[in-house]
Amino acid sequence: MSGTLQAYRLCRYCSEREGAEAPGLAVVPGAECVVCSGLMDRTEAMGEQAVRKLRFYDFRTFAVGVSLPEGVQEKEDELRSDLKLKGRETIKTQAARLVASFVSRSTRKRLDKKNPDVTVLANFEVGEVLLSSKPLFYYGRYAKPAGIAQRRSFCEECRGSGCEKCRGTGYQRKPSVEEVLGKKLGGICGSTRVVFTWLGSEDRESRVFAPGRPFVAEIKNPRKRKLPKKLGARLRKGTLAVSAGRVLPSKPTRLPPFRFITDIRAQAATKVGQEALRELKSAFRGASVTFQRPNNRPAMKTVYRASATARGRALLIRAELDGGLPVKRFVSGELVSPSVSEVLKTEVGCRSFDIRKVREIGEFGFAEIARSEEKN
Ligand SMILES: [Zn+2]
Ligand SMILES: [Zn+2]
Repeated sequence: MSGTLQAYRLCRYCSEREGAEAPGLAVVPGAECVVCSGLMDRTEAMGEQAVRKLRFYDFRTFAVGVSLPEGVQEKEDELRSDLKLKGRETIKTQAARLVASFVSRSTRKRLDKKNPDVTVLANFEVGEVLLSSKPLFYYGRYAKPAGIAQRRSFCEECRGSGCEKCRGTGYQRKPSVEEVLGKKLGGICGSTRVVFTWLGSEDRESRVFAPGRPFVAEIKNPRKRKLPKKLGARLRKGTLAVSAGRVLPSKPTRLPPFRFITDIRAQAATKVGQEALRELKSAFRGASVTFQRPNNRPAMKTVYRASATARGRALLIRAELDGGLPVKRFVSGELVSPSVSEVLKTEVGCRSFDIRKVREIGEFGFAEIARSEEKN
């Protein structure tokens, strides 16, 4: 079609966008519009659909993204070059603006294009609105009984690919902190995906005493954004308890260093005397130890204190260690020096250990978020 002989037939939205007074344009009903074929008449219906779905979401701010059928943007570009029009905005921008304006009028929520709680994705081709929400970062501390692992582990049968034994999940069916808390937090927020970051770890057989070990759970695509301070789950072996829970302002960019107090049950190869125990205490008063990390640079860690009681070859050790220093290696001396074995001059093996206390030394780091106050 040539703009010189015949007028471009545009709907009122499209003609307004191009500048209604431009010569060579005729305003027609939406279905006859050569650019959008009536798509722009649907912005209100898309807005209504968005508002219906948003009812299930906690949000303060939103943004709108639009996808149009292939070729629509090209038709507008062609018309603009043909008639030498600059246009006020693109059809996509206009569609998003109209949907956003409908949503903000109906919900009284604020449009925030940079950092929205919820993004409305309006697909004009299929007439469907999908919502996606900003992840939620929840900080808490967990205490657990012995017999529950921190992390889920892969199914021994299929190694993660999914089989009959694991009911296709790829994971072992024994409960873990990760699985139990993931379900709990996901259930509260209406999310099916929760990813954990832990401040250190322990064994399945370790007890973690209250208030417990800090963690951050990233809750993907949540519908609800409020979480309680405390959570509990009754397990066969005891209670998994979360305390000190709070929602973080954004994704932490830095985790705080931490130190922890552990009670270790160990066994020495030979009987350990009182003199050796005194030696242990003085050797580990604020001592620096080297941990030869596999495939990594050696790490310098601090042992703040360690003391032990002995009954024959059985030892009970209480130690306060830097986060990241593995308890079993600190005892045995494998890749760690000095170690309990080294100081006691006999081979000592860790049988089990409990986590008494975890203390953060420092703060979480967060990226600066540019707050935008956009009007629509
Ligand atoms: Zn149109
Ligand atoms: Zn399996």
